[in-house]
Amino acid sequence: MASQGPVNPSHATFDLFVQAQTCKDVKHHFTQLCRQLEIDPKDFGSFYAKLKERLNYWKAKALWTKLDKRASHEDYQQGKVCTKNKCLVLGAGPCGLRVAIELSLLGAQVVLLEKRETFSRNNVLHLWPYTIYDLRELGAKKFYGKFCSGSLDHISIRQLQLILLKVALLLGVEVHTGVEFQGLIEPSGENGWMAKLQPRSHPAAAFQFDVFISAGGGRFVPDGFKHKELRGKLAIGITANFINRHTAAETQVEEISGVARIYNQKFFQELLNETGIDLENIVYYKDDTHYFVMTAKKKSLLKKGVIKQDHNDAEQLLAPANVDYEALCNYACDAADFSTGGQLPDLQFAQNHAGQRDVAMFDFTCMHRAENASLVKERRGKKLLIGLVGDCLVEPFWPLGTGIARGFLAAFDAAWMVRSWGNGVPHLKVLAERLYQLLSQTTPENTSKKYAAYSIDPRTRYQRVNLSSIQTHQVQHLYDVEKTH
Ligand code: FAD
Repeated sequence: MASQGPVNPSHATFDLFVQAQTCKDVKHHFTQLCRQLEIDPKDFGSFYAKLKERLNYWKAKALWTKLDKRASHEDYQQGKVCTKNKCLVLGAGPCGLRVAIELSLLGAQVVLLEKRETFSRNNVLHLWPYTIYDLRELGAKKFYGKFCSGSLDHISIRQLQLILLKVALLLGVEVHTGVEFQGLIEPSGENGWMAKLQPRSHPAAAFQFDVFISAGGGRFVPDGFKHKELRGKLAIGITANFINRHTAAETQVEEISGVARIYNQKFFQELLNETGIDLENIVYYKDDTHYFVMTAKKKSLLKKGVIKQDHNDAEQLLAPANVDYEALCNYACDAADFSTGGQLPDLQFAQNHAGQRDVAMFDFTCMHRAENASLVKERRGKKLLIGLVGDCLVEPFWPLGTGIARGFLAAFDAAWMVRSWGNGVPHLKVLAERLYQLLSQTTPENTSKKYAAYSIDPRTRYQRVNLSSIQTHQVQHLYDVEKTH
């Protein structure tokens, strides 16, 4: 029988690109594809159109149909609205990649910087229905066949990054890994706003931009933004990933999409009686790994020797020197074993980025939230619009899985803001429009259920949003212009 594989080398490379399972391989096959098709990936304005024209491959067509549908949305004004804008995006986490995709659909030149070389986070993210819809419409299933099949509503962080990275590259986003952003460089001479990078001689250091979107994750706060701390009662989160061998027996084990103590006292009491483990809640998702996230009570962690010494200060309490790693592994393993009724008998830890057993303990006692989502800086007459998205705007509480849902909403909000910027809306008005404070209160219930109508326009997503509720004089403090003497 004749081989079913593609005969055209670029078709074979496209297949490898679609299937690639590491950041390095995605980039490698992408570069190869561009070479074979003789398309310059820096030619962002016509990259996608040329790719479609030159890669005449039936397997790619279904993906083009999806991306074309998205790109044809009226909000993007045929990809012309931001053709004059140059955007620097910081961070190739899911939110940085998601916002980069939107900015490229608006027609902007987008350069994305990521300090890591690998995507290694096994941890699994809960997806709200709208995010599943959104990702399907971006072709997630073409890149990752298992994406949210059946009733699944989660994905590992690394798989999500891989999907979004592939989409971003196809749409002409310039992605640089292994480069660290170290701050903004103010305009001087002929130069506009630029970034200080490590390595210093990196080609992206010459990029001049008028939009900077920070999606640097948890505690990354660019200059000029204030964060407030929300201090709750002590909450200690533990995540653990075990190897999934995908055996028939493993497939049978039921996931736990979240049991909280208040809803199932009996389960937690039995867990405590039998193992000495005392939890507030636990979630178990089956993905590339068997993933568990739980909130544990301090007393039981002390009793089981996971935490060595008691401290009132959460930072001291969870400092690496005060944690017995072996005991933590046993604690997580026993909790996983009990909560799955011993049906995963061969629990073996997956490896984390450092090649160690993938278990970690995090402090959720104090969560950060930015006081504002955007600001404008002006130096030497050159304006820079800065926006925050993802965890650096609102830190999520993982056991509730709010990270991606609110992160993507913020990515769309930021793209809408850049759209206004590109449309020449006065800067104070752009800032005033972005000042609605709905994001941190959003739930699947209070956001619109018309997922197909979701776009970067906030009115399609939030139920009660009034973009004109803030007056420009109320955002004057978000406009940072140098004083001329
Ligand atoms: P992130 O995913 O954190 O991405 C930020 C990116 O910016 C990173 O790739 C980082 O390397 C890069 N970066 C930061 N600073 C710089 C710089 N100066 N220069 C260049 N690049 C930079 N959520 C859950 O729901 N469940 C979990 O179990 C869970 N586990 C997590 C484990 C870890 C270790 C981390 C960091 C986060 C975890 N989260 C979890 C949170 C979840 O990953 C985020 O909500 C989600 O990824 C969206 O975040 P983001 O894109 O805003 O930021």
